[in-house]
Amino acid sequence: MPQATETESRKLLGRLRQAMAEGDAGQERLDRITHLIADSMRTEVCSIYLFRDNDTLELCATEGLRAEAVHQTRMRLNEGLVGRVAATSRAINSANAPQEPGFRFMPETGEEVYSSFLGVPVQRLGQRMGVLVVQSKQARSFSEDEVYALEVVAMVLAEMTELGAIMGEAGGLTPLHKRAQAFRGGIGQEGAAEGRVFLHDPRVVVTNPIADDPEEELKRLRRAIKTLRGSLDTALADAGKIEGDHVQVLETYRMFANSKGWLRRMEEDIARGLSAEAAVEKEQSAAQARMRTVPDAYLRDRLHDLDDLSNRLLRILTGQGRDAHADRPEDAVLVARNIGPGELLEYGRTLKGIVLEEGSVGSHAAVIARAWAIPLIVNATGITTEALNGDAILVDGDQGVVHLRPDDTVTSAFRDKLAMQAKAQERYASIRDLPAATRCGQRVALYMNAGLMADLPSLKGSGAEGVGLFRTELQFLIRSKVPRRGDLASLYARVMDAADGKRVAFRTLDIGSDKVLPYMKPQDEPNPALGWRAIRVGLDKKGVMRMQLQALIRAANGRALTVMFPFIAQFDEYRQARQMLLDEVERERKLGHVLPARLEIGAMLETPSLAFAPRQFFELADFISIGGNDLKQFFFAADRENERVRRRYDTLNVSFLTFIEQIVNRCAETGTPLSFCGEDAGRPVEAICFAAMGLRALSMRPASVGPVKHLLRQTNLTELRAVIDAARAEGHQSVRPSVMAYLERAQ
Ligand code: PEP
Ligand code: MG
Repeated sequence: MPQATETESRKLLGRLRQAMAEGDAGQERLDRITHLIADSMRTEVCSIYLFRDNDTLELCATEGLRAEAVHQTRMRLNEGLVGRVAATSRAINSANAPQEPGFRFMPETGEEVYSSFLGVPVQRLGQRMGVLVVQSKQARSFSEDEVYALEVVAMVLAEMTELGAIMGEAGGLTPLHKRAQAFRGGIGQEGAAEGRVFLHDPRVVVTNPIADDPEEELKRLRRAIKTLRGSLDTALADAGKIEGDHVQVLETYRMFANSKGWLRRMEEDIARGLSAEAAVEKEQSAAQARMRTVPDAYLRDRLHDLDDLSNRLLRILTGQGRDAHADRPEDAVLVARNIGPGELLEYGRTLKGIVLEEGSVGSHAAVIARAWAIPLIVNATGITTEALNGDAILVDGDQGVVHLRPDDTVTSAFRDKLAMQAKAQERYASIRDLPAATRCGQRVALYMNAGLMADLPSLKGSGAEGVGLFRTELQFLIRSKVPRRGDLASLYARVMDAADGKRVAFRTLDIGSDKVLPYMKPQDEPNPALGWRAIRVGLDKKGVMRMQLQALIRAANGRALTVMFPFIAQFDEYRQARQMLLDEVERERKLGHVLPARLEIGAMLETPSLAFAPRQFFELADFISIGGNDLKQFFFAADRENERVRRRYDTLNVSFLTFIEQIVNRCAETGTPLSFCGEDAGRPVEAICFAAMGLRALSMRPASVGPVKHLLRQTNLTELRAVIDAARAEGHQSVRPSVMAYLERAQ
């Protein structure tokens, strides 16, 4: 790159910084910036277009176009050349703009006399902010250096916009990260929460995008890269000879960290006047923009790696985000792109709410949030780019809405809602010790789901009759090593102590799929939900399951013990698992240990195949529990974690309810006790429909016991069944509309 241009661009950045330091703000500042750029680039026109909302751009300042057009001229994303630069995140460089396809003539701007056009996106970390344009009368194509220089300026503008430095009061546009904003998402867990944002992966804030001393910035960048490479080498050495994804990711990171192109581009940006941080971010923004458009999943993953690596580098350069947990506010609402169950468990149940940019209602992280009754919103697009640590946030888990930096009216309406919910809780508390008896005199046993010691106090508070599902894998997920038998035995014993004689159904380890143990080699499976998981692992690698069964027997220490095996797909799997437990009991007997007073061995019905197992299976099983989360995903072939397909199929779909009825009937033939422990059991309308189909035991998160009991106590199951049967006979797809109409009538 020619030295002259480097110096030019450095000069321009220097002038820009000076403009920033001067007292004016808002429109005046924007005007001054456009003047400076036009002057330095020797063009007649320089204009800044910024997003007004998600898909409208507004001309916010110009040097050269008509002043009356400022804040009047607007265009939609993809409209005209400016709209196209914004939509594609790519520069447009044309010597004859009016001839370009898609050119849209804006008469109010007087731009018809300008022939050349260079527009570059103003963007920061995947967030589009606007477009920076220079135009000139003379028909000429801008040189590569000029394009590059304008991109560097756009980068600085993006940083300044981010900081609110150039927005001020300009045309009513509020700086980013300051305005009130609402996000819509999917409901992962109902409930309302008020608190402050706590970012799982806090964004690094670059406070000075322009280099004071390029030489010094270059040194800083090289030092940071060296530290980064060193840390990757250490991580790889620590990973030792283990093979698998983790090592591969580290290898890819090291490849990027050693990539000459990456470093060279950043060095060039610094030479043009950017600070080291801004240079890293410019590369990162470009990678993110590419990520949006690359259809190939593999390449997208690589760009994602680059993104992650840039984050690490920024952390090294700025020293930000190192000890995030230390600054966690008491009323933290966790905001994250996505989170795994293990990471969520590390945060513990003190979080007020959780908002995920991606995530899914069916994931195990969602299961944990539900177990803890923490309001959870998933798929809140844009939240991680907009939210900053410490921002006020309201999570409305009933409507699926998040209010970030809400104004007073929204906050006070929200607080009224919180007060109303507290009243409903009081109502549920008043029926806590009453049975879930329906209007027609049927009793339904309500149990709670649990997985952590901390869940047990809810047993009393919720009014549940016992624990219908104890997810033992959660204990494994929160540790960094396989727990020892003694530890597990004492934990299970404490669970039984806390249950105080009430039944606890311990489900043996259900790992695989999205529940990956940190110390287990991850399997490279194309379809993990259909892969080597749960009982399949237990039967193939018997050691861990044996150890767990021994721990359970010892924990019972003469008390009744209930064990159930997850994901049984065929009779033989149940027979083998059952035999393993009986063998362990026998072994304990030989060793002279106290044996459980009573042993109940159940199977989870989570694959449709098991509903068609031979009668002998139903005779042998002491009880069956429907794992509705998995059963539904396999019944409809709709991934429980994929938001696009998950909601397509209603649980009250006639086919699914009829299938549940078949399972009820098969269990009735052999007198096998049946329960339902998927998330749907905790949804009051679904729960009463299951009861109407004949289910007499439901297990749910503790917070659902009250609402489910309340509705069951008001329901006449015979009438409800008639409504369901009528809807089925009429050929409806789902019985929900008929059931809702009935409930309204019955009120
Ligand atoms: C289920 O699949 O419904 C279930 C209860 O198990 P998990 O959600 O832990 O897979
Ligand atoms: Mg399951």
